[in-house]
Amino acid sequence: MWRATILTLFPDLFPGPLDASVLGRARAEGLWALDTVDIRDFSDNPYRSVDDTPAGGGAGMVMRADILAAALDSVPAEGRPVLCLTPRGAPFTQARARALAGGPGLIALCGRFEGIDQRLIEARGIEEVSIGDFVLAGGEVAAMALVEACVRLLPGVLGSPSSAGEESFEAGLLEYPQYTRPRLFEGLEIPAVLLSGDHKKIAGWRAEKAEETTRARRPDLLKRALENGPIRRGKIKDQDR
Ligand code: SAH
Repeated sequence: MWRATILTLFPDLFPGPLDASVLGRARAEGLWALDTVDIRDFSDNPYRSVDDTPAGGGAGMVMRADILAAALDSVPAEGRPVLCLTPRGAPFTQARARALAGGPGLIALCGRFEGIDQRLIEARGIEEVSIGDFVLAGGEVAAMALVEACVRLLPGVLGSPSSAGEESFEAGLLEYPQYTRPRLFEGLEIPAVLLSGDHKKIAGWRAEKAEETTRARRPDLLKRALENGPIRRGKIKDQDR
């Protein structure tokens, strides 16, 4: 069974949003498992502290490598990669989520304070990942985002198996815009093509919109999609080649 183990100073935050809706149902059905390790249980002092002042000086505190190593070594890896959440990490992507979902699960290390002693990362060969170019107060919300992105890709978790394949990033582009009833909302109509019943025309319109949106909002994604060969959806204009 796909399993996530979260090392954290705040185990009570879990499962939190991971228990809502389809993910919660899937966990109840045994499609995936979640457990937490309280890093403070591995402290070496009566205050249960896990941090110390930064070498070289400066503000804040740093999580200690020796205590984190003891916490990490208490977890049976069972072939799972260890990921550390940090703004210094490689950007987490849909492709990484898909790869992780295809494996046995993951072990995630949540930082707090100014972060963790770099020697732990080196000594345990930990993968550093970021969920975006901004700074959170701790790694817990980031770990939830990562686990949620993986679990919704597991077989049987989402209602319709096709709903994950067409989405943003899956074809290297952002998704086309979505609409539903009512047909008229504050003077705004649903685009007529979507009501035409012509599936070929609809697919073409969606491909065009996906490309147009990606070009306007994420030219970096469009560039990468083009470098990776022909885009699955829609035609690319000559200026983008
Ligand atoms: N001093 C650090 C930030 C520490 S924020 C720096 O400047 O890089 C405290 C913790 O929050 C981090 O250890 C990390 O676990 C988590 N965190 C903050 N922002 C994050 C992000 N964008 N992605 C993943 N984890 C993040």
